[in-house]
Amino acid sequence: MTESTNGAAPAPTFEAARPTFDAAQEFDLRDDLRGYRAGFLGSDDAAIVSYLDGNSLGRPLKASAARIGSFLQNQWAGRLIRGWDEGWLALPGKIGDELGRAALGAGPGQVTIGDSTTVLLYKLCRAAVAARPGRREVVLDTDNFPTDRFVLEGIASECGMTLRWIRPAHDGGVRAQDLGAVLSEQTALVVLSHVAYRSGYLADMHLLTAQAHEAGALILWDLCHSVGVVPTELDMWGVDLAVGCSYKYLNGGPGAPAFGYVRQDHQAVLRQPIQGWLGSADPFGMGERYEAAAGIRAFTSGTPPVVGMLAMQDMIALIDKVGIASIRAKSISLTTFALRLFDDVLAPLGASLASPRDAQRRGSHITVEHPTFQTIMPALWEKGVIPDFRNPSGIRLGLSPLSTSFAELWRGVDAIREELAG
Ligand SMILES: *Cc1c(COP(=O)(O)O)cnc(C)c1O
Repeated sequence: MTESTNGAAPAPTFEAARPTFDAAQEFDLRDDLRGYRAGFLGSDDAAIVSYLDGNSLGRPLKASAARIGSFLQNQWAGRLIRGWDEGWLALPGKIGDELGRAALGAGPGQVTIGDSTTVLLYKLCRAAVAARPGRREVVLDTDNFPTDRFVLEGIASECGMTLRWIRPAHDGGVRAQDLGAVLSEQTALVVLSHVAYRSGYLADMHLLTAQAHEAGALILWDLCHSVGVVPTELDMWGVDLAVGCSYKYLNGGPGAPAFGYVRQDHQAVLRQPIQGWLGSADPFGMGERYEAAAGIRAFTSGTPPVVGMLAMQDMIALIDKVGIASIRAKSISLTTFALRLFDDVLAPLGASLASPRDAQRRGSHITVEHPTFQTIMPALWEKGVIPDFRNPSGIRLGLSPLSTSFAELWRGVDAIREELAG
């Protein structure tokens, strides 16, 4: 018996359905997570027709507006300096533990919040290369985010090391054979992005970590484009170090601080280079010489950015409640629908795809290229359609599973179609 003889319409599947607006609405109706969208400020703002840039700056949660207001009134104004003793100083480790549990697969005492991704990346990479004396090379790839490449260029010249470059395919990322070709007994450190910021390629973290370890190297993963949408098992996969930002899929707000993961057994060995008072063993002893704190706190430097850490707490709590596996499942549905739209609507107008088609190798955004994208961006913004332009000709469609609807995605691609069709 088929479903239609029961009177129920067959459920459309993402691959089979023609990507019409009706199909998009149908997917929204069948989406168990659809109700969370209303929890984001601005999700009912008619002037924002389609926000497809949650991979660059996530929307704020309504809960964060309440939290920020209450912090100002009750904690900052109400508790004043007493707040430091009453919990503020402990926030980097506390939020780090919550993030580790909800999204990273990291046990307590291994994640801290602070600095920017760039600065934490420097601190952890510098510590890692110092822990492999005698090894003269750092492995990275030409498609990694500029800050990752620039920080490592600086470390290489500071420490007299050589950068070994992997050149991934335009629509791909770093695979085991690519890493295998450059690893050697000279490799001190490997630095890779879990999800490539441009192509959206999802690297096999488990496999590549084991490969780096076989060569005797340490590995640092940049999780900026995966944290909050793609689950990781940092502890189980034996990852040494990781960093990521909190303003993309963690909705921490513009300039919110980064997070860093240092595996437990490295904490007493690795020494980070910015020795500040709040990473020292006894900050309020005001001692003469630096002695590193025990545990993850040794990787902090100065005063924790307490105000910047407010909003991310709401998103981390929401991820914990919904479950990262359900979020990943919706993310795959959204990118699959985006690919269907690309094939049906954008490819016939001359656009090309610069992202993997295999859902298992794809993060939560896809990149579409067309020579005229730069010129149509102002018109799209004017219409309240906000994708992410990447020089020279790419548009990233970033899909944040709890705040993006299928209808919103459809409207965004339809506006791009309209502009391309002239
Ligand atoms: C967004 C992003 C960064 C950002 O670094 P900041 O110091 O927060 O500006 C770094 N690396 C990757 C891979 C990113 O996607």
